[in-house]
Amino acid sequence: MSRIMNIINDFKTECNCGRVHETSVKDIRIGSGLVNEVGNILKLNGFSDNILLVADKDTIKAAHGILESLDGFSVETKIYDHLRVADMKHVEELEEIIKNRDISVLSVGTGSLNDPCRLACARQGKLLCIFATAPSMDGFASDSSPIVCEGFKSSYPAKSPEVIIGDTKILVNAPAYLKSSGFGDMIAKYVGLIDWKISHLLTGEYYCEKVANLTKNAVDELMKLAHLVTENDEETAGKIFESLLMTGIAMSFTKNSRPASGSEHIIAHLIECLQLPDGIIPNYHGEDVGVCTLRMLEYYNYLASQDIIEAHKEKVNWDQVFAVYGKMAEEVKKLNFPENIVDSVDPKSIENSWQEIREIIKSVPSYEECKSAMEKAGCKITVSDIEKEQSFFDLCVKYSPYMRKRLTLLRLKDMISVKK
Ligand SMILES: [Zn+2]
Ligand SMILES: [Zn+2]
Repeated sequence: MSRIMNIINDFKTECNCGRVHETSVKDIRIGSGLVNEVGNILKLNGFSDNILLVADKDTIKAAHGILESLDGFSVETKIYDHLRVADMKHVEELEEIIKNRDISVLSVGTGSLNDPCRLACARQGKLLCIFATAPSMDGFASDSSPIVCEGFKSSYPAKSPEVIIGDTKILVNAPAYLKSSGFGDMIAKYVGLIDWKISHLLTGEYYCEKVANLTKNAVDELMKLAHLVTENDEETAGKIFESLLMTGIAMSFTKNSRPASGSEHIIAHLIECLQLPDGIIPNYHGEDVGVCTLRMLEYYNYLASQDIIEAHKEKVNWDQVFAVYGKMAEEVKKLNFPENIVDSVDPKSIENSWQEIREIIKSVPSYEECKSAMEKAGCKITVSDIEKEQSFFDLCVKYSPYMRKRLTLLRLKDMISVKK
């Protein structure tokens, strides 16, 4: 049994936080040469003899041998040219193929290829297996799908795959920029963990130390492998993939994305939302997320360097906020009126908890340490690396916290004054 399946089983008993942590992912395989075993693994997990294989030209090539492994199945294929932005029309297209039939789905690829499959299978009640071709992002085990519908991207409740397979021989041959992107998505967890713990401290939001540690240990381990990320090292590729999966599983344990994402993911999401209507194809998820992570770590570290701060009620110019969000303004309004995530945060409690907040920030590696690891791992580092204007990036940093009903340290920026 894979290490990760052992961890999942270990979490099945009731936790100190009072919850039982479960995931609907039933089988995870990580190993060398697994592409030849796919058919057997699907059979063992009760998949139909009829398989719809969804891939794109690059991923089906990367997964060479997968069709041969499905000997004995009746296989239909849906091969996209290049699917970078998952759209509702892709979901509907797949639903059309699988509805009212005895058929299971095998998604060969990553992010935007898996997302429509996850939602189509959820809607039509079909079994799903993801065969990963690159360790590029942490959404493999996720039970939701970010999908663009009429120009707007939002997250739809979908389903986790029953089976996830990562063949390290294939993962290691993924383009270096995809491996670096996966590394960037992992470093982001440090910011996410800071935000989660601070929210728990200030609002009493649910928090589980055991799940938080699961994520933290996965990132800590990966930090040590930074110099090997872009190397042709099968073991490292497997480890990156395992860490990404682990944080995905951590999210299903808490039924939210707290263990894996914080203010940095929200900034990256706003960047995408504001640029999609202009037809700008997003960078790979972990590239934008990585750059946003460094920006947040720099800011959080700066806050942690302050011995004392002054806190006051949030002051926001909402007209400005709504102007930035344009067509999304209505949604943002609903998230902030009549109730606001910072309503329950007493400025006095920020002042009183300040030393603890500083400790939480210092409990993860610093901006400098993370930046140096990301450089070794070949990640994008600067705003110009991800081809954004500095002023646009700054605007996204400033206005992103209002698009979620979720407390982050960044959201508290308007409540905290640094003493000069
Ligand atoms: Zn727990
Ligand atoms: Zn992510």
